[in-house]
Amino acid sequence: MSTVAFIGLGNMGLPMAVNLLHKGFKVRAFDLVSEAVAAIAGKGATACHSAIDAATGADVVVSMLPAGKHTRALYLGDNDSKGLLQTVAEATLLIDCSTIDAATAKEVSLVAENKGFDFVDAPVSGGTAGATAATLTFICGGNVTAVARAKPVLSAMGSNIFHAGGPGSGQLAKICNNMLLAVLMVGTSEALSMGIDNGLDPKVLSDIMKLSSGGNWTLEKYNPCPGVMPDVPASKGYQGGFMVELMLKDLGLSQETALKSLSSTPMGALARALFVSHARNGNGRRDFSSIFEQFSKQKT
Ligand code: NAD
Repeated sequence: MSTVAFIGLGNMGLPMAVNLLHKGFKVRAFDLVSEAVAAIAGKGATACHSAIDAATGADVVVSMLPAGKHTRALYLGDNDSKGLLQTVAEATLLIDCSTIDAATAKEVSLVAENKGFDFVDAPVSGGTAGATAATLTFICGGNVTAVARAKPVLSAMGSNIFHAGGPGSGQLAKICNNMLLAVLMVGTSEALSMGIDNGLDPKVLSDIMKLSSGGNWTLEKYNPCPGVMPDVPASKGYQGGFMVELMLKDLGLSQETALKSLSSTPMGALARALFVSHARNGNGRRDFSSIFEQFSKQKT
């Protein structure tokens, strides 16, 4: 079984790396936060002191970082350190699962390809619950050979693997999805709040809408109203999950993309404005379903 260097052990990366261990992969792990490295080392991974250290001797690199600047620095290097493309062994497969701008994904992929590496942009959907249950959806961009090579590793962490197209296509498809997710989360929050304001039980209303024409992923898997579903961020003080600031990054990417292609995305623009206002009220590091509080009269 191959050895995977896992870089970025946050809300998503840690459970993904745990699943690789469960499926028999050897994992060499690095994060800037030493507690995260200690947590995965406690489950059988090798703790590493840098990304370069983690990638040494690995067959595959998987990165799960916040944004494009982190992915760029990891693979291409910056003023402080060399990038992995300058240090890893030939034939190392490189998979970036972070959600980043398509331009950076294409740039890194091109440099990797010119050096003879296979590089795949493979952002994910499914949230922390999907990461824990190994049911993530991977949305890949890259050449056919690279994506085929990535499948055995991705299958250990997810249940759906799509090939959206060439380099950067995974990122483009992912931001289309996340713009829609933001719109659905806002719409679900306002519909639930209006129901509550008029005396409906949010659990009963959720059950009704889930199986009616308003049904959507947020109602099925990620209800934003506290107490309706167990084990979702809304029922845990909106901790963990997918931070508002990361959703804002994705909404920013979607609006930049829309501007470049002259696409009309009024709902995405409105969702971005609502999440900006929510972040300004001190909610940047809370789960994005906390947008529910902007509509709810009852504060949690
Ligand atoms: P997070 O902030 O919880 O984790 C990111 C981790 O990367 C942190 O532990 C941080 O210390 C580490 N890191 C940052 N720079 C680093 C570097 N140079 N070297 C090593 N480690 C570094 O974020 P997350 O929620 O795990 O999200 C990761 C990515 O996945 C983001 O791009 C996000 O948009 C995307 N995503 C998140 C979710 C979700 O539900 N949380 C769902 C789908 C996609």
